[in-house]
Amino acid sequence: MGRLSGPLDDVTGDAGYAEHPPRMGFFTDTSVCIGCKACEVACKEWNSVPDDGYLLTGMSYDNTQELGASTWRHVAFVEKSSPSSVSVDLGMPGAGPPGVTLPSGEDQAAASGDNAITWLMSSDVCKHCTHAACLDVCPTGSLFRTEFGTVVVQPDICNGCGYCVPACPYGVIDIREEDGRAFKCTLCYDRLKEGQTPACAQACPTESIQFGELDELRERADLRLATLHEQGVDVARLYGHDPEDGVGGDGAFFLLLDEPEVYGLPPDPVVTTRDLVSIWKHVGAAAAALTGLGVASFLGRRR
Ligand code: SF4
Ligand code: SF4
Repeated sequence: MGRLSGPLDDVTGDAGYAEHPPRMGFFTDTSVCIGCKACEVACKEWNSVPDDGYLLTGMSYDNTQELGASTWRHVAFVEKSSPSSVSVDLGMPGAGPPGVTLPSGEDQAAASGDNAITWLMSSDVCKHCTHAACLDVCPTGSLFRTEFGTVVVQPDICNGCGYCVPACPYGVIDIREEDGRAFKCTLCYDRLKEGQTPACAQACPTESIQFGELDELRERADLRLATLHEQGVDVARLYGHDPEDGVGGDGAFFLLLDEPEVYGLPPDPVVTTRDLVSIWKHVGAAAAALTGLGVASFLGRRR
């Protein structure tokens, strides 16, 4: 375990690799996501991830709802009503209770002010954090940093203790109930070793998911953000790209069209092991003080 918080230029070197390839990652530009879920399917197919039970929640068209042990990519469908948008009277008959005649062009939807729906689509994934608390707390070494700077679980040595689950500030890693071990996105480590693109990025038809060297992706994201702002899309923002943030920046970061909370992302995540060193220093000081007290009382009794 190297540094536990703060910016870190050479994540992979800090993990002990003397020579290594550049840090690789994902830039997910949600502004061009069409919600096709090709990424979810490609991930399941390549990694042999079991199905989620095909449950329809009745809450949304999004039937997978969140990342989990069997959902390593999750496309969120965020439905937003926009009461301020202008509606156009098409001269259609109004719908209403029997016997009640609504004024021309005024139907139930218009009367409620709920006259426009905006869809925000976003494909979420493990963030492959610069400071990955999941990895820091794993007692078996099942979680490790790869030579590409990504974070991978090795299920064959995972003992299912579950320490990594509350340690993750994003709620990504999870125990598969029927299996008892932890699973999450591996950023297709097996494909990276063969010089291939991860399955989700390969399958995305709109290039919403972009894979590559992290430094280059950050430059590309800055350009895309500037373009959107020039076009008047002032709500566009980057999430997880800043090495000064609470996790030292993410290996998988996003361009969002609203606040992170709208997409179910924490607004200001902090690596949960950040204060571990100072906690152990305090524990050490308290233990030394107790030992001193014990010795003093022993010597006092002998006099
Ligand atoms: S997002 Fe969570 S599971 Fe992924 S590397 Fe960071 S701490 Fe680990
Ligand atoms: S494949 Fe691309 S466009 Fe389709 S849901 Fe995933 S990120 Fe969005």
